[in-house]
Amino acid sequence: MGDLDLFHAGLWSELRLREQRERDRGASWAEASSPLTIEWLDDNDEAIGSRYSVPVPPVVAVEHPGLPGSMTATALPQPLRMADAPPAGAVAARLFFAGEFLAKKEMRPPPPAGYAALAGYETDRMGAAAPRFILHVVAERFSDRDRFLGRVDEFWGAIMAARPFNRQGVRDGLALAWHFAPAFDADGHFETRDPVQGVDAHHDARLFMGDRACAEELLRPLASASSRAVVLIDSRIGGGAGGSVVRWQGHDYYYPSWSSIKSRRGEQWWQMCLHELGHGLGLGDEYSHAYPDADFDPLDPAIALEGNVSRTGALADVKWPVNVPAAHHADWRQIPALAQDPDTVAAFEGARYTPHGLYRPMLRCRMNQTWDEFCDVCQNLIAERIALP
Ligand SMILES: [Zn+2]
Repeated sequence: MGDLDLFHAGLWSELRLREQRERDRGASWAEASSPLTIEWLDDNDEAIGSRYSVPVPPVVAVEHPGLPGSMTATALPQPLRMADAPPAGAVAARLFFAGEFLAKKEMRPPPPAGYAALAGYETDRMGAAAPRFILHVVAERFSDRDRFLGRVDEFWGAIMAARPFNRQGVRDGLALAWHFAPAFDADGHFETRDPVQGVDAHHDARLFMGDRACAEELLRPLASASSRAVVLIDSRIGGGAGGSVVRWQGHDYYYPSWSSIKSRRGEQWWQMCLHELGHGLGLGDEYSHAYPDADFDPLDPAIALEGNVSRTGALADVKWPVNVPAAHHADWRQIPALAQDPDTVAAFEGARYTPHGLYRPMLRCRMNQTWDEFCDVCQNLIAERIALP
């Protein structure tokens, strides 16, 4: 494998600093000519071949748990993509930015035989026999199979108890496939080290994940438009990271989400997984706080909105059915019995990383706070997506 996860190599913050410096000088980072170069090293630290330039990866917001019950995000570069596999004998890579040394990344030694491919995992399935959507759960750092399967059962039980999956018809559209291989060392298959508080995440946030390039490659056989993968981490530290589908240079990369099995005060570990499952089923975030470091305008009309987010707050025009009487379509926000009722389906201002200008259907939803149920509109969208006719 030739791809390098810059976040995992501890390089992302350094790269962001260099980027900022280039911007301050008036240069556009991504448009600068070949600012990133790489050379491979053998075990004597000698360069193999000459340096060559690699495309600067896009920076994307990676969602992860914030304060208990809520989600936040950190801007990270996607893994570096190499056109070719490392040459024979390469054990490390040296990266340069605009000709200056940036960092050195040791390559992970190849895993023992049998672990190199998903084919080496034990796999089984629960749920629907002919599902419209499959949630893949992959073991990371587990040495005990029964311990892993216990957590899988706990997660599946939580899904089946959650609305709308507790409805007949809807549950028949979903399956969970688990994949187990015992960890061969403390870092597991994806080099997933416990996060260091205050270094790997902001404040109380819990950004927790392994090497994304490695996971994306290994889990590629599981990736599709009708499936998602979550890597379950055996750790005593709570946290995780959202998955994403990134289109870059004509390819779709499916990055799995990550979750540790440690619950935090007031929050069960699987709550974030259900929020991520919501994304997998086409739902957008309903929280209104800004993404840190985000360099996009949430009100950009070019952004495609999901079925649970609206650009208009006018009840006659929102895309979901509301339950406010027509006589109050204009003044419902001034009527506390409607505006503060958790059962009101209308257009509440604040969604998708902005407190103003975008609207969500109900006051509370799992796509807003992970410990709530999905709102009525999200439940219906999920049911439309996976329920069997
Ligand atoms: Zn919702």
